Amino acid sequence: MQTYPDTLSLIGHTPLVRLKGPSEASGGEIYGKCEFANPGASVKDRAALFIVEDAEARGVLEPGGTIVEGTAGNTGIGIALVANAKGYKTIIVMPDTQSKEKMDTLRALGAELVLVPAAPFSSPCHFVHTSRRIAEETPGAVWANQFDNIANRRAHIVGTAEEIWEQMEGRIDGFTCAVGTGGTLAGVGMGLKAHDERVSIALSDPHGAALYDYYAHGELKSEGSSVAEGIGQGRITANLEGAPIDTQFRISDQEGWDWVKRLLDEEGLCLGLSSGINVAGAVRLARELGPGSRVATILCDTGFRYLSSLHDPEWRESKGLR
Ligand code: PMP
Repeated sequence: MQTYPDTLSLIGHTPLVRLKGPSEASGGEIYGKCEFANPGASVKDRAALFIVEDAEARGVLEPGGTIVEGTAGNTGIGIALVANAKGYKTIIVMPDTQSKEKMDTLRALGAELVLVPAAPFSSPCHFVHTSRRIAEETPGAVWANQFDNIANRRAHIVGTAEEIWEQMEGRIDGFTCAVGTGGTLAGVGMGLKAHDERVSIALSDPHGAALYDYYAHGELKSEGSSVAEGIGQGRITANLEGAPIDTQFRISDQEGWDWVKRLLDEEGLCLGLSSGINVAGAVRLARELGPGSRVATILCDTGFRYLSSLHDPEWRESKGLR
């Protein structure tokens, strides 16, 4: 056991846990990276820290300045906690469809919260464009721009991928996760491939996202929809450019929820839906790679963030999840 000098040094170096049910179901060994163990309870603390420290290094963030970001919520929570620890202000723009718990957490952290209606990326009202505009109009503000700022991906090349490689002792056959910005998939993929080209990197795409078709057939095309928060991308972000993707799966919300429920009931892990989609993808990848294959994935955030949605039976019924 060790002590840490401050909150920011708690970000990263998360545990990697063997998942019993998924391992048995796949005939392989499935490991989950416990990103819910970050201080902001999600994988996005890593990107937030790298983005803020990159802005500091480039000299664009002055002491006492403001960081503005458009986010499904988790990046906002990461940025707000990093900003508080470093003495910056935070303005977070978020679609009003995201979980109440994320909004309450952002308010608790003292972020100024701007809620916008859900809109397509082509609309000027989309949360990403709104956040860029607010950053441009606010004196002393910088725009974090997580989708196209590759400081995000770097957090996973130098952090997450190195940790997984070390924790798996170099014995890893595959890695998979879903994409929001693509920072995690591209960064971990690049980092693991730098150690061993043979590690198979797979995209686990929710319904309603366009990347499955892009990597399978070279065409950005979406089908259906998903209630999973924080994932589901319709374009090739700067973070995704050059991502070493070997194969891809399309995962339904029901398949993701089935794993969230099993991990809750059988292993006592309370997770969000993107983690369930990742685990479903890991099971499929391990089956494809053959008996005994060792696959890692990301447990992106805590299920306590979705007690009034995913983990509420009435909410699930309203979304058609059994
Ligand atoms: N799961 C959740 C719950 C998230 O908030 C995010 C980030 N938007 C992701 C997965 C995807 O991570 P990334 O942005 O690195 O693709």
